[in-house]
Amino acid sequence: MRNLLGLEEISAEEIRRLLLSATGFKEILSRPVRKAPTLRGRSMVTLFYEASTRTRTSFEMAAKILSAEAINVAVAQSSVTKGESLQDTVRTLQALQMDCLVIRHQYSGAAEYAAKKLDVPVINAGDGRHEHPTQGLLDLISVCEHFGRVQSMDLSGLTIAIVGDISHSRVARSDAWGFSRLGAQVRFAGPKTLMPSNCRSLPVTVCSDLKAGLEGADVINVLRLQTERQEKGLLPSLREYSRQWGISARSMQWAKPGALVMHPGPMNRGVEISADVADGCHSIIFDQVTNGVAVRMAVLYQLMGVERE
Ligand code: ASP
Repeated sequence: MRNLLGLEEISAEEIRRLLLSATGFKEILSRPVRKAPTLRGRSMVTLFYEASTRTRTSFEMAAKILSAEAINVAVAQSSVTKGESLQDTVRTLQALQMDCLVIRHQYSGAAEYAAKKLDVPVINAGDGRHEHPTQGLLDLISVCEHFGRVQSMDLSGLTIAIVGDISHSRVARSDAWGFSRLGAQVRFAGPKTLMPSNCRSLPVTVCSDLKAGLEGADVINVLRLQTERQEKGLLPSLREYSRQWGISARSMQWAKPGALVMHPGPMNRGVEISADVADGCHSIIFDQVTNGVAVRMAVLYQLMGVERE
C-alpha cells in the first residue's frame, strides 16, 4: 500500500491488517503519557479545502502521539486564494520535504490526482462524494469492537443499514466497500432523489422505504444531508425529510432490538437524527471519534513508518 485513496481498491486482508494495527495503537491512547517515538523525524501535512473538525484534528493528534511533525495548511490563508493550482500547491509541499500528505477536497478524484503528482504517500481525507477511507476504517473497527469481532475482524451475519443522503456521501461509499469486504450485508436506505444512479456497481442492496431499510438491521449508520454538494429541489422540506427519514425512537423500533447507532458527524440533531437517539445507550457516535485517532495512527504508521523502509 503506497497511498490510501479509497477502500474500494484495498483488499480484505489489507483492511484487517490496518484494523489490527489500530487496536494495538489504541493501547497507547489509554496510557497516562500518550507518546511513542515511532515516527520521529517524519512530517505530515494536512491540506483541507473543505471544513473539518474530527478528521483533521485526529490526524494531527495521531501524528503527534507518534512523534511526527504535524503541519496544517490553512487553505483560506494560503496561496490557493491567489489562484495557485492543486498541482502546484502539492508539489510545493513536497519540495518543502513533507513525508506524507493528508488531503480533503471538494472534487472526487482530487486525492488520486495529488498522488499521481507526488512521490510521497497521499491519504484521502474525503474527496467530494467519492470516498473517505479513514472514516470507513474507524466505522469498521467500532463495529468489530462492539460485536466482539476484534480477533477475527469478520462481520459475517451482520446487517448494516446506511440511511439518508447516500448520493452525496463519501462515507456511504467507503462503508459499503469496507463492511462488505469484512463479510457484512450492506443496505442503503434513503429517498430516491438522494440515491446514486450507480448503486448496482456497489456491493449493497437498496431500500427506498425506511421501515424496510431498518428491518433486521444490527447497525444503523445515519448520514447528514450534505447540502454543500446538493442541488436545490431534491427534498420537499427539512421537516418532511425528518419525519420520513429521521432516525428517532419510533423508527428505531423497526431495527433489531439493541441495534447500534452510528453517525460520522457533524450531526444535525432534529433533522437526520433525534437528540435522544444520538445520546441514547445504543449510540457509539463518540466512540467512533476516539477510534478515529487509533485508525489514523495505524494508517500513518503503515505509510510513513519503519515498515516502509
Ligand atoms: N465528516 C464526514 C465527511 O466529511 C461526513 C459529513 O460531513 O457529513 O464526509
